[in-house]
Amino acid sequence: MPQSLRLVSSLTFLTIAVGAVLLALPDMPGLGGALSTDAAIALVTETAQSPIFFVPAALSLVFFIYVKSRPLPQGTMRAANVLPPLKAELAKTERLAKVKATFASLVRDADGLVIADLLVHAGVQLRASDIHVHPGATDTQLSVRVDGALEQLAVLSPEQYGVLLNRLKVLGRLTHYVTDKPQDGQFSLPTPDGTAEVRISLLPTQHGEKAVMRLAGLGNALPVLESLRLPDSVLRQLKRMLEKPQGLIFFTGPTGSGKTTSIYASINHLLDSRGSLAQIATIEDPIEFSIPEVAQTQVNRASGLDFASGLRALLRQDPNILVVGEIRDVETARIATQAALTGHLILTTVHADSAPGVFNRLLEMGVEPSVLSSVAHACFSQRLLRRLCPFCRTPTPVPADLVPRLQAVKAPVEGYFEAPGCAECGSTGVSGRIAIFEVLIVTDPIRDSLKNAPTNQQLMALSIEHGLIPLRDAALKAAQAGEVSVAEALRVAE
Ligand SMILES: [Zn+2]
Repeated sequence: MPQSLRLVSSLTFLTIAVGAVLLALPDMPGLGGALSTDAAIALVTETAQSPIFFVPAALSLVFFIYVKSRPLPQGTMRAANVLPPLKAELAKTERLAKVKATFASLVRDADGLVIADLLVHAGVQLRASDIHVHPGATDTQLSVRVDGALEQLAVLSPEQYGVLLNRLKVLGRLTHYVTDKPQDGQFSLPTPDGTAEVRISLLPTQHGEKAVMRLAGLGNALPVLESLRLPDSVLRQLKRMLEKPQGLIFFTGPTGSGKTTSIYASINHLLDSRGSLAQIATIEDPIEFSIPEVAQTQVNRASGLDFASGLRALLRQDPNILVVGEIRDVETARIATQAALTGHLILTTVHADSAPGVFNRLLEMGVEPSVLSSVAHACFSQRLLRRLCPFCRTPTPVPADLVPRLQAVKAPVEGYFEAPGCAECGSTGVSGRIAIFEVLIVTDPIRDSLKNAPTNQQLMALSIEHGLIPLRDAALKAAQAGEVSVAEALRVAE
């Protein structure tokens, strides 16, 4: 064989080998993402433009497709890294027992890459609010928080923990080599039970980085009213309002105050309590949960579908319950109040800073006081506050600088709690969030007053006379019950 031919053939062989290894590498355990077949074809097609590389590139692609198509060894499986489906009607304890058993057996010999997916999927199936990855001296605890209680799922070896942590950092786009500073990120992960929106935070601890993942926006895990930690009185009032055959129920609060969650949980309750009698249609922006039993429409301004035109179209579909994402213009307000007068129960949000403020906003938009007074049932104004960790919270004197602030809002200056942080809360002192509410129920005296278009102050005074607890009092009450810190309560109370 001539010298030059030998050189060319060995070069070709070397290129094939390097190409194949590079293409197959991301599929090996322990490394971040995987090269998709489409991406590989694109890469190879580009390389193949040059005649010298055509043959090696084509051969690399054949090898890559072979690598992709062959059954992957246990621990690197990708399509199968999900948990078996669960029956929807399973009770919480059965659900927990089933997921724990399958999860523990799947994780025993699995690779960290797979564990990340399995872990999020387990969280989704259990409707967990948080997932904890807690490294200890000898092994790592995996647990999930379900309805406020931390449930242990499995224990990982240090090797599994290392790979899992790297995978989570890749998913959350966190800096791989930083291990001594807190980091935050987020990612979405599709699972057979809905896409999980995950917010991940890493905290350096004595034995490695502890990861806590907060789960939100689960496709099928529609929130239930009972899991929202609503005060008992608010829960009762809301359920009573949802029994009304027609009229308007309002929710208000700034972005991130949990009002959308309250509405979805209300839809869930209506589906449960009314069964097939509930013909629910929504116009939303955006649709945050998809609910198979509900006709949901997304606002699309580019094609002329706004809240008003969407609502008008929904009404022609003969629903009896309507959800209008937001009322912010006179036309939507007019159609909604008319629909509420003609046999529809409507749940909606209005931008305002208090429950009475909602009615003032509608009156300002031009809604007739007499119409408003006959269709409005209630308004729920809400805020989300960081909840003190129940495991480490302890009665603590109020810091001196907060005393005058408490006095300014005429609140007691003692009887509050702080949480210094413990293993349960990852040394943060915080565990999830709680919602506090200001509830305005439209009783007869308030109905009468609405007919005369009262001012915000008049309506507030009258509502307090008839049982409304202002947000600031609800916040301070939560602080005195040890649910939130005094500083957190003052954020709302001032
Ligand atoms: Zn704690």
